[in-house]
Amino acid sequence: MIAPLGWPPRLPSLDPEEIHRYSRHLLLPELGLEGQRRIKGTRVLLVGAGGLGSPAALYLAAAGIGHLTLVDFDAVDVTNLQRQVLHGTRDVGRLKVESARDRLRDLNPHVSLEVVAGRLDAGNALGLVSGHDLVLDGTDSFATRYLVSDACVLAGKPNVHASIFRFEGQATVLSTPDAPCYRCIYPSPPAPGEVPSCSEAGVLGVLPGLLGTIQATEALKLAAGIGEPLSGRLLLVDALSMRFRTMQVRRDPSCPACGTREIQELREESGACAVEPREAVPEVSPAELALRLRDGEPLQLLDVREVHEWEVARIPGARHAPLSRLEGAVAGLDPALDTVLYCRSGVRSQEAGRRLRAAGFPRVLSLAGGILRYAAEVDPTLPRC
Ligand SMILES: [Zn+2]
Repeated sequence: MIAPLGWPPRLPSLDPEEIHRYSRHLLLPELGLEGQRRIKGTRVLLVGAGGLGSPAALYLAAAGIGHLTLVDFDAVDVTNLQRQVLHGTRDVGRLKVESARDRLRDLNPHVSLEVVAGRLDAGNALGLVSGHDLVLDGTDSFATRYLVSDACVLAGKPNVHASIFRFEGQATVLSTPDAPCYRCIYPSPPAPGEVPSCSEAGVLGVLPGLLGTIQATEALKLAAGIGEPLSGRLLLVDALSMRFRTMQVRRDPSCPACGTREIQELREESGACAVEPREAVPEVSPAELALRLRDGEPLQLLDVREVHEWEVARIPGARHAPLSRLEGAVAGLDPALDTVLYCRSGVRSQEAGRRLRAAGFPRVLSLAGGILRYAAEVDPTLPRC
């Protein structure tokens, strides 16, 4: 059994009704009475009472989590009910946190519930996160994901993350001592309008149920101190092919949140409007690039290393455009597409990105950590030099 992460074990007692209610947990030798008491001693902050938050809240409450705080600003709409199973038809028009409180109270009156009818923002995030043992991120907004992640890093709390899109989802446990934060995996937010929201793109209703249930599973394991947490691993779920796979994700030493610790105060990301200091070229993480390549997204991948490096190893699909002769490669590029540049460790690709932007290519990205980090995290078969 692993030690519960980040909070002292408070082991409240269970009354006879609770012992009866949780008997199927108590029968598990790995969990037992002590695990159940740890679950009761855990305070969870759940951000978002929508598609991911619905199953997460239901299973955490059913399992006897000690305290659950729900944050959501939205009201129930009839189009939510295709996936947000925490709410019912008679709740349409009510605040989601109110509807959720009624349902969860009925499910398990032993759980202490608190609701915040509003947005998680730069003013309240750190206080809310600090007052809990772990956080479940069930939001569908990039700005809120960065905020949740930064607050979890600052407060030293595990961040059980998931996101969904159409038929696909991903989940991971972030910000534990051995895990990256959200910024390590996704260094910069997409530009507004670049990624359609669920309301524009659609989502298979059961998919958030699947991913939110995985979040609840990870939260309960962390609370009880059992099993192997999904930290340092990104679980990718494709519901259409029903394939699950995991990808290793690592901390980025240059991450401004958990690496260099430059981020000491919370601020809200505003997509493409975020000012980039020192004219840094936006980065893409190895995991994100691998996903985009796998999905066949139209992009131009340029290797800006010199020929002797190119001959040893290259990322499949890349074109060779060494920095010393970059200008010669410009004619063959389409400025309407994303251009992803990589080098050995991510420094030359920044310089190449600045030059390409100056040459009229606005959609330039640099692979964070270069081919070395790509080989370490995505494709260990690539020779390193
Ligand atoms: Zn980080």
